[in-house]
Amino acid sequence: MSTERQVVLITGCSSGIGRALALAFHEHGCLVYASARKPETLSELCARGIRTLKLDVTRGEDIAAAVALIQTQHQAIDILINNAGIPVMGPVAELPLDELRQQWETNLTAPMALIQAALPAMIARRRGRIVNIGSVSGILTTPFAGPYCASKAALHAMNEALRMELKPFGIEVLLVQPGAIESGFGASAHTQTGGHAWRLYAAYAQGIAKRAGASQEHATPTTVFAQQLLRAVLAPHPQATIRIGAGSRLLPLLARLPQALRDAILLRRFGLR
Ligand code: NAP
Repeated sequence: MSTERQVVLITGCSSGIGRALALAFHEHGCLVYASARKPETLSELCARGIRTLKLDVTRGEDIAAAVALIQTQHQAIDILINNAGIPVMGPVAELPLDELRQQWETNLTAPMALIQAALPAMIARRRGRIVNIGSVSGILTTPFAGPYCASKAALHAMNEALRMELKPFGIEVLLVQPGAIESGFGASAHTQTGGHAWRLYAAYAQGIAKRAGASQEHATPTTVFAQQLLRAVLAPHPQATIRIGAGSRLLPLLARLPQALRDAILLRRFGLR
């Protein structure tokens, strides 16, 4: 990458991975714009000298304003990290369609909207890196996480297309597939799934809760994850697909087992036997 101070925009910095990445890139010397839909959650990052922005990734006007502000000051974003994401978990048969739509908007449409907004200025300079935070859940689909797994699998597919389409313009597109990483993700999943009184699946509440909490089992500390990702993103020749964190290498292997065996393992794990 260029030796100039890199301008980095990160979404979803109120907690977890986004917050840790903002700190890691800032401490490394990058000029970080940490964003969140609730700006008050960024006061600690702001106090450390990190620039902060209000950015709800599902609001087009927020995206336009954030990108315009950065481009006014620095011409273009050097590194865009699409991190914001939500869990929508539970049995597919009973999940309200509004939640499925919100899942899709946040985890898939929003990163594409940010990329479209940031790209013209990146292309004008013929340089830039786009980093999409996918998930091992986009490779291994489990019961009780259909919408979340689908959103990440779709993000992976978009990432693949973009990586090839942006080659002629000199823009690099990196896909991160984290394993289990310490963050607020498990608590959000418990809150979201706990808000439902399952009818068909009332007897499977334990399995649903287990899936909601799976991201926090034996999880890799967020700071460790952030340091490893920082190195991977700033590498002179970065890998296109980056796997970091507990289970990030094992779970893709599980996904390649014969279907009957894989189903048996997952049915048992999530109480469907
Ligand atoms: P987290 O602590 O729950 O962080 C999620 C972040 O996304 C929060 O800052 C949240 O903000 C933000 N967000 C949600 N909707 C938003 C919106 N509409 N606009 C702006 N920000 C929004 O969980 P995390 O683990 O750090 O998650 C970060 C990313 O990593 C997600 O894409 C997740 O899918 C992915 N991931 C996590 C794991 C893991 O094990 N933790 C594994 C694989 C992938 P609020 O505080 O406002 O809700």
